[in-house]
Amino acid sequence: MTEQYQHKARKRFGQNFLHDAGVIDRILRSISAKAGERLLEIGPGQGALTQGLLNSGGQLDVVELDKDLVPILNQQFAGRDNFRLHQGDALKFDFTSLGAAPRSLRVVGNLPYNISTPLIFHLLANAELIRDMHFMLQKEVVERLAAGPGGGDWGRLSIMVQYHCRVEHLFNVGPGAFNPPPKVDSAIVRLVPHTTLPHPAKDHRLLERIVREAFNQRRKTLRNTLKALLSSDEIAAAGVDGSLRPEQLDLAAFVRLADKLAEQPQ
Ligand code: SAM
Repeated sequence: MTEQYQHKARKRFGQNFLHDAGVIDRILRSISAKAGERLLEIGPGQGALTQGLLNSGGQLDVVELDKDLVPILNQQFAGRDNFRLHQGDALKFDFTSLGAAPRSLRVVGNLPYNISTPLIFHLLANAELIRDMHFMLQKEVVERLAAGPGGGDWGRLSIMVQYHCRVEHLFNVGPGAFNPPPKVDSAIVRLVPHTTLPHPAKDHRLLERIVREAFNQRRKTLRNTLKALLSSDEIAAAGVDGSLRPEQLDLAAFVRLADKLAEQPQ
């Protein structure tokens, strides 16, 4: 890299660059991209994962917010005909503009922690385009994504992501793999959108509403937290015990509550 392209990591863009070759290789092997596949990398940074993704022979689009990284990325990769760079905010990016076939897009990113949750929801709004997603996230967030009912990690994020996807917590990554090292542990997660939703809700927005209300006060009983939305009788008619707390319900039970709400005149 020439002097003029030296880049200082920026905190406001959540820049913690991967430099551990073993970790980079393990991530790339987990993704196992093949020639001709449609790949999308969010936040390529200085190209730690980009290089290996391009070497797979896949068609790679990258979305990077930091303008100063554009020359660094172009210098390394602009000559490769399977590389396309989009400078901008991934949270505002229109994924349909990529022209990818349904269920073809393989999304990858060592994500800035401050945008990880909204970005996952932005991507899930186009879940039909996506084959799978591999993300480096804060370990605590991965634990919440992969949680099952009954524990403190089970909440809005677990439920709304598991509504759309199968979630696999692949492996953990310590702070030393990054430059600068973050203050928290990280982990790699794989999200695979369901081809057929296992528990489809009549109205997805009502599921969001029920889950948000229920977990607003997670220590309280459902009868209490949901009283503005559903009566005790309606909760019982949905096959749910109103004396339980929200973390004790599985996804199917939340969908039954949302479907009960959908029966009310809106
Ligand atoms: N992939 C690189 C790596 O593993 O070394 C960089 C990872 S760094 C944690 C996150 C990257 O996302 C940075 O390059 C940052 O500039 C970029 N970024 C931050 N916010 C973004 C956004 N809203 N849209 C697109 N990229 C963003």
